[in-house]
Amino acid sequence: AAKREGVAVRTWDPLSEGDSVRRLTLLRHLRETIEAGQLQVHYQPKVHPGTGRVVGAEALARWTHPAHGRVTPDEFVLLAERSGLIHPLTDLVLRTALEQCRQWRVSVPGLSVAVNLSARSLLNEALPEQVAAALARAGLPSSALTLELTETAVMVDVDHALVVLRGLADLGVTLSIDDFGTGQSSLAYLKMLPVGEVKVDRSFVAGASGDAGDAAIVGAAVDLAHTHGLVVVAEGVEDDVTRRLLVDRGCDVIQGYLVSRPLAPEAFGAWLAAHPQP
Ligand code: C2E
Ligand code: CA
Ligand code: CA
Ligand code: CA
Repeated sequence: AAKREGVAVRTWDPLSEGDSVRRLTLLRHLRETIEAGQLQVHYQPKVHPGTGRVVGAEALARWTHPAHGRVTPDEFVLLAERSGLIHPLTDLVLRTALEQCRQWRVSVPGLSVAVNLSARSLLNEALPEQVAAALARAGLPSSALTLELTETAVMVDVDHALVVLRGLADLGVTLSIDDFGTGQSSLAYLKMLPVGEVKVDRSFVAGASGDAGDAAIVGAAVDLAHTHGLVVVAEGVEDDVTRRLLVDRGCDVIQGYLVSRPLAPEAFGAWLAAHPQP
């Protein structure tokens, strides 16, 4: 069993042939959960590395099956992608996160929320319209929303994805390249995509304090992003040595267990209250 966030979870392939009964059981319950609007969303702070000032929160979907227990997002997002549930899932996380953000902005006015898009979301031509509707419903400006996507997702169908991404960028939401550095063609895509932010992948950030090569990659990513006028976020920051290295390299925003694990909404509200903004 793999360990994630201190909880033992089963690793299984939701698409494996041998497990079709469980797959159908999970799928049925996932559909019911989404239809009932009951998918949980946890929030992880994104903060300025020097001052600790909060700039936003990443929304991370959480789902527990009554019999099979907690299922990781990597697994149920894949299940949703392969079964036509991904658009309703994305829409639910988006609406849930924006409504939360609206409430928190009463005490933290500039707070923004980041929602993950899957590869299939990028092929959904109705997405810009859905995002506009969700923002309007929450009464929030587009500056309150960041959408995170990977280069790999863009490459599934570049032409199609570009149409959707331009539609999103035209709304004024920030597009963020997630897991930056793990794709095949970072430079070329950066220039082509209407992005405002890159998130340097956890694998480089985790190694940066002990490995000169990883530290160099992080430094190069910061310089490259800044050359293009982009905000740089480092994800997976777990210790203070890494945080200080990132301050030195000019990284704009950090996220990771050092600051906080992803938190249930009530806990995130308490975390915000306990971290008065400088
Ligand atoms: P991601 O977008 O790269 O999200 C970051 C993952 O790193 C999260 O895992 C988070 O809990 C974890 N993390 C954060 N800080 C640290 C740290 O300091 N150390 C370590 N070791 N890990 C850290 P999580 O929540 O299990 O999510 C996994 C992936 O599932 C996400 O990767 C994202 O690709 C996907 N996902 C989660 N929620 C959604 C969603 O609502 N929609 C879509 N399409 N994908 C989602
Ligand atoms: Ca992400
Ligand atoms: Ca990431
Ligand atoms: Ca990831």
